[in-house]
Amino acid sequence: MTHWFGLTPAQRVAEVEAAGLPAFRAGQISRHVFERHEFDPGSFTDLPLAMREVVSGRWFAPPLALAFELTADKGRTVKRAWALVDGAVIESVLMRYPRRDTLCISSQAGCGMGCPFCATGQGGLRRNLTAVEILAQLADAEATLASGSLPGGPGRVGNVVFMGMGEPLANYNAVMSAVRRIVDPVPDGWGISARGVTVSTVGLVPAMSRLAAEGLPVTLALSLHAPDDDLRDELVPVNKRFKVAEVLDAAWDYARVTKRRVSIEYALIRDVNDQAARADALARELRRRGDWAWAHVNVIPLNPTPGSRWTASTPASQAGFVARLERAHVPVTVRDTRGSDIDGACGQLAATVPPGDLGA
Ligand code: SAH
Ligand code: SF4
Repeated sequence: MTHWFGLTPAQRVAEVEAAGLPAFRAGQISRHVFERHEFDPGSFTDLPLAMREVVSGRWFAPPLALAFELTADKGRTVKRAWALVDGAVIESVLMRYPRRDTLCISSQAGCGMGCPFCATGQGGLRRNLTAVEILAQLADAEATLASGSLPGGPGRVGNVVFMGMGEPLANYNAVMSAVRRIVDPVPDGWGISARGVTVSTVGLVPAMSRLAAEGLPVTLALSLHAPDDDLRDELVPVNKRFKVAEVLDAAWDYARVTKRRVSIEYALIRDVNDQAARADALARELRRRGDWAWAHVNVIPLNPTPGSRWTASTPASQAGFVARLERAHVPVTVRDTRGSDIDGACGQLAATVPPGDLGA
């Protein structure tokens, strides 16, 4: 099914002409979508009525249907679960911050990587999303923000993070064509700065190298979680294929080629990976590759997931871990746990309807 979101600018013109419409209509349609953030052709009032129906039927069949929605933080965090046309369910989370609105999107229905602390990983992979299904999550968030209906007034998505369900680099082609539409300047695409786009990976080394060669300065996040193979083999099963040294080399190459600082994700798990010795080992691994601050460690307090035997570190061990990194001059921040009360935080997306919620 062809959808406007997924077409390149040249394909849009070709499509419009093939439908017997004048080429300038392509630009008009794109301005509605990418400039005004409207995607119901019924409201494209500069198109004749009959043409709106053609446009709607050919290029705007809805890829997602709202299954349910939960909000937290006084309406500033919105998690939406979406049913895809084949019944698979995915989730996206919109977070309003004072200076930027951030959207966390899914790239797959489920995930096949099986990290034991992650709710998405427990259900396995159902399928890859198409570029259109990825982009429809952004289109919805832009329309919601543009409408001004959320607390904080009208806004625009400033950051798009591929940290929802799925492993984006395991769905490389769809993710990359989505990224191109996200960063294409308005009105060809959403015009979001590539620096505002973060692709988070479990460490698929060949795909990381491929991403570095794309010439797109997106931010790369590497979910490391342990500086040694013994522990990482357990926390991140794909480590049996791509070892710590290899994934860090690939991250370092990414930083060198793109001149972009890489984000090292580290979910802090009590008495599992939060020891001072592991903080020191992590700092050593980062600093021995490059002495400029090529990597930034993002500590994520572990979010609870059903059936997991692990919990977040104590505040004291978390502070100790952060202090060890700082002492070694490694830039480090602690991620907030936005959305954890609605199972909308990192690793909690499982698309399960909460008890008592009958759906929207
Ligand atoms: N598959 C990709 C992107 C989605 S997961 C990846 O793993 O990088 C997004 C982030 O959430 C990853 O850094 C992941 O390790 C982290 N995460 C998963 N489960 C978590 C949990 N229970 N608590 C905190 N972070 C978690
Ligand atoms: Fe998949 Fe990322 Fe969850 Fe691991 S942490 S199971 S790679 S979504």
